Amino acid sequence: MPAKSYLEEKQQYNGLDFADFFKKVTDDDILRVLVKDKITRMDFLKLLSPIAQKHLEEMAQRSRRDTIRNFGYTMQLFTPMYIADYCDNFCVYCGFNHNNNINRRCLTMDEIAKEAENIAQTGLKNILVLTGESIKYSPVDYILEAVKVLRKYFDSVSIEVYSFSQEDYVRAVEAGVDGMTMFQECYNKDIYRTLHPGGPKANYEYRLDAPERACKAGLRNVNVGALLGLNEWREEAFFTGVHADYLQHKYKDVEIAVSTPRMRPCSAGYAPRSIVEDIDLVQYITALRIFLPRAGLTLSTRERPQMRDHLVKMGITKISGGVTVAAGGHTKGDDDGQFEISDPRSVAQMAQMLYAEGYQPVYKDWQTLI
Ligand code: SF4
Repeated sequence: MPAKSYLEEKQQYNGLDFADFFKKVTDDDILRVLVKDKITRMDFLKLLSPIAQKHLEEMAQRSRRDTIRNFGYTMQLFTPMYIADYCDNFCVYCGFNHNNNINRRCLTMDEIAKEAENIAQTGLKNILVLTGESIKYSPVDYILEAVKVLRKYFDSVSIEVYSFSQEDYVRAVEAGVDGMTMFQECYNKDIYRTLHPGGPKANYEYRLDAPERACKAGLRNVNVGALLGLNEWREEAFFTGVHADYLQHKYKDVEIAVSTPRMRPCSAGYAPRSIVEDIDLVQYITALRIFLPRAGLTLSTRERPQMRDHLVKMGITKISGGVTVAAGGHTKGDDDGQFEISDPRSVAQMAQMLYAEGYQPVYKDWQTLI
């Protein structure tokens, strides 16, 4: 009988001892996994093991092959647009944390239209809308009103906001939203509790279930992810991949994607619990690709230009450009952003890099009739 929710699905791994599992993985195990057509969840975990780093070159080659077979030499471009940064939550690792003393903004519909005009001039036809998580300053009605404004400029509008109820996701679809991103941030529930000491986001289960509510509501595109650095990264990588796998099998008409962010410094001054090196990120992305050959994989400007240029050839299918992480940043400048970005290149510069690497940048992959 299929699990009713990802929480239930995840419970089957409650007794899993990651350190003990990794101790038993051998070189031969990795080589056997790499010649399989389809790999299992436990094979995926083997590819995440420390010993698999000895086989990173083979993993990268397989990942590149699988990516080109499923996506060709194309790369989706996108940019985030923060419309509000008030937040009711206390995430210890975030610059928008309720206790953090920054100048907060909540854009008016006119200001949102101006931001949209600026972004649309880059040629992008899709947009990712973000807010802090404040029911008071950015209620569902405000977000959906903004979506209606943005639909005049963009053919595809995705949201990265707080967890909606299923009814509100249905309303979002009706307003013209076709995609959503929901970072669980940390899949380990005990650590999640210490990172989210208050506010609505403290409800681990409600957040974990949000991508599934979005799938049920009929969103076309659902994106999940953990913020690497908040817990031991291999455990987080495993549960992120299994989450995407669970959704992909259960909701076959929804495009399931994974975002792969690493922690960056921010004004909250939080030090990562686990250091995720470049080689770890490469291992994560290539293992994800081999496990989920059809899933979109997104890379943000948390990574340096050289690293991003490298990773587009290893499994990434969607990459951002012209990024600001401040509310109104596309017109008012980048003060008081959510975190520090590492790649300031514009959309045009990203496209240039992609052409030079033999890729077709994709500015638009969706058109609706409304
Ligand atoms: S991570 Fe999101 S919910 Fe948490 S403080 Fe930052 S903006 Fe608010």
